[in-house]
Amino acid sequence: MKSVRLHGTGDLQVHDEEMPVAGDGEKLIRVKSVGVCGSDLHWFSEGSIGDAKLEHPLVLGHEFAGVTEDGQRVAIDPAIPCGHCEFCEQGHPNLCSNLIFAGHGKTDGSLREWMTWHEKSIFPIPDSLSFDDAAMLEPLGVAIHTVDLGKLRPGMTVGVFGCGPIGLLIIQMAKLSGASNIIATDKLPHRLEAGRSLGATHAFLAQGGQELEEIRSATSGRGVHVSFEASGAPDAVDMAFASVSVGGKVILAGIPDEDKTSFTASVARRKGLTIKLVRRMKHTYPRAIDLVSKGLVDVRSIVTHRFPLDRAVEAFRVAERREGLKIIIEV
Ligand SMILES: [Zn+2]
Ligand SMILES: [Zn+2]
Repeated sequence: MKSVRLHGTGDLQVHDEEMPVAGDGEKLIRVKSVGVCGSDLHWFSEGSIGDAKLEHPLVLGHEFAGVTEDGQRVAIDPAIPCGHCEFCEQGHPNLCSNLIFAGHGKTDGSLREWMTWHEKSIFPIPDSLSFDDAAMLEPLGVAIHTVDLGKLRPGMTVGVFGCGPIGLLIIQMAKLSGASNIIATDKLPHRLEAGRSLGATHAFLAQGGQELEEIRSATSGRGVHVSFEASGAPDAVDMAFASVSVGGKVILAGIPDEDKTSFTASVARRKGLTIKLVRRMKHTYPRAIDLVSKGLVDVRSIVTHRFPLDRAVEAFRVAERREGLKIIIEV
């Protein structure tokens, strides 16, 4: 079978490998669609993500869908929590001490024709969902978890800083959660346009902080109740803190390049902010499947490019240049 491994920075190679064999509690899956995520781009461009470094030629890919050996169309949660550590017991499987995650560290991901995965993390999908739709359930799960952390109430005003795929899904989840004003920013006009068409009530081009005035006037000077930062760029983090109202919340979902996040302490302190960091997601696949199959969240219009597995390098280059929105590799 074909697989694609990352050997070093920018070095993706196609291999011919042995088929994997399903162990106890596992299923064999024929992979069909794999999304390229911002975190994959950290591996690709930097050979690391935060303090995790490339340990072996790694198969990337954690947003994926396929067919099990017995013919069931499925989406796959890339996380396998242990289910019995202290944090799993407390209802935080995303913080599991023994977490296995596809395409991260020692665990190969889905950029290959066949893989095995634990059956507890495999979710059947309805026929109305394409494999590309189903690969989008992973970033949607992250957006669901992110918006859950914001504890939105109807009529709230929120800011979404960064309109990549996660930001665009946060916009939709915020709208579904009753936010009546959704202010989106991005540096790239095409992403901002997508934000507007997916539910942002205001879309401002991020241009060195000038957008703060526009955000202030759109909120009668008060700022947003909840800031969702979905970029990782220092400018977006700054704007998330600058735009939030006194007593508000800042939810950080982006992954910074330099493994450091900073904000102006006096501003955050005087506003008495609550700051939360997003770590992946909880058991969100059932909700994600329901939202997409009922047409409440549009994942399809976020997929703008598709490449075959052989052209994975090209797919990563396009994603690296931030062309389009979500890049899917069809296996
Ligand atoms: Zn991801
Ligand atoms: Zn655990």
